[in-house]
Amino acid sequence: MPTPVVLADQKAREKWSDIKAQLQAMKGDDCDWAEGKVPGYTYKMGDDLDYVIRESYQMYFGENALGKNAFKSVVKLESAVVDFCLRLFGHDHTGAGIFTSGGTESIFLAVKSAREWAKRNKPNVDKPNIVMPVSAHAAFGKATYYMGLESRRVPIGFEYRADLNQLREAIDENTIMIVGSAPAYAHGNFDDIGSIGELAEQHGLWLHVDACLGGFVAPFAKKLGYPIPKFDFTVPQVTSLSADLHKYGYAPKGSSVLLYRTPDHKEYAKFVFRDWPRGLYQTYTFLGSRPAGPLAGSFAALNFLGEQGYINATRIMLSIKEKLISGIEAIGGLRVYHPSDLIILLYDSVEAAVDINAVAEEMRKRGWFIGVVANPVAISFPINPIHEKSVDLYVADLRSCVEIVRKSGKTAAYDEATYT
Ligand SMILES: *Cc1c(COP(=O)(O)O)cnc(C)c1O
Repeated sequence: MPTPVVLADQKAREKWSDIKAQLQAMKGDDCDWAEGKVPGYTYKMGDDLDYVIRESYQMYFGENALGKNAFKSVVKLESAVVDFCLRLFGHDHTGAGIFTSGGTESIFLAVKSAREWAKRNKPNVDKPNIVMPVSAHAAFGKATYYMGLESRRVPIGFEYRADLNQLREAIDENTIMIVGSAPAYAHGNFDDIGSIGELAEQHGLWLHVDACLGGFVAPFAKKLGYPIPKFDFTVPQVTSLSADLHKYGYAPKGSSVLLYRTPDHKEYAKFVFRDWPRGLYQTYTFLGSRPAGPLAGSFAALNFLGEQGYINATRIMLSIKEKLISGIEAIGGLRVYHPSDLIILLYDSVEAAVDINAVAEEMRKRGWFIGVVANPVAISFPINPIHEKSVDLYVADLRSCVEIVRKSGKTAAYDEATYT
């Protein structure tokens, strides 16, 4: 392994110190995620884990995960990560998987795989469509748009979960795939994957479970005795499942897995191209050249934390959640949404004089990143372990922001762009 080089040349040291200062200055207006000021986007378990991940990432800083012959370790790392995840989601080595750059790529490849599978297995389909609840992540809209497929997004029902009747009615002879979330990002609740599985079986559909958000929380919450519905490969009709390591796996950004029931299903993700003077080009991912750092970081996170580490992280989050619920409810004028299945909490205002968008704006002035869900309009708090140190401050700030809005009668327009 190359030894780290300390800049020997004075000129180079000066240049670097200038660049470093510029980077630090640019960060000046960012929300402070490491202090727990950003519910969403960032996920942090602790400083020890961050150190281990950074070191692992750095060890693979220069490698290219496209080069499986040049970098044989990349293949080993990918299969170790995939195997860990298959077991976590109720499967074994007879399944298969792909390490991807994120939830969007996992979903993109699931959709692509279903399309190729349907060409082979559903020959009567001439204009493929995919049926999903409107709560399915926007990445499905992106993937179907890119691939020229029809996406049928149907209304959700009770407790913001998939409405089985709506899904059933949207299915026709051109439907190839159905989607459920475990849980969905906007409202944080699980779809009934077991029932969606029965629908998939009746109509011969590829069933994808999007566990991008909850994949590395739900199995551990279950171990803690939390009521978690069946959502993974233990539901026999599940064909593929996505889970984001760069969310509650605490891996570096650029880490997700797409898992398949069988290696045959995985083959539908493959892209093979020969019409090129350089020769055969063959990949399972959307990306060509791929960073290997996220893969090494994911391997490190899974092994450093292990099952017990993830259980601890989950325990911490569930206790933050209790604190948040009682703290917010004690303020008065606000309502916390129940049920909240896992680690996303929504709340809004039930007092005419307290405009929730104005509350969000006041909170932002205090350096908090505040995401607001569009339908219904509610402030969203995706919990992660780092909030252990900021939850009391959050509730205290929220209390005084509500007071300011109540006294001043301030209102604000709904800001659509809080997840852009
Ligand atoms: C985050 C998320 C995605 C998309 O993942 P990216 O990593 O942002 O590409 C998809 N589905 C769910 C449920 C998510 O939470």
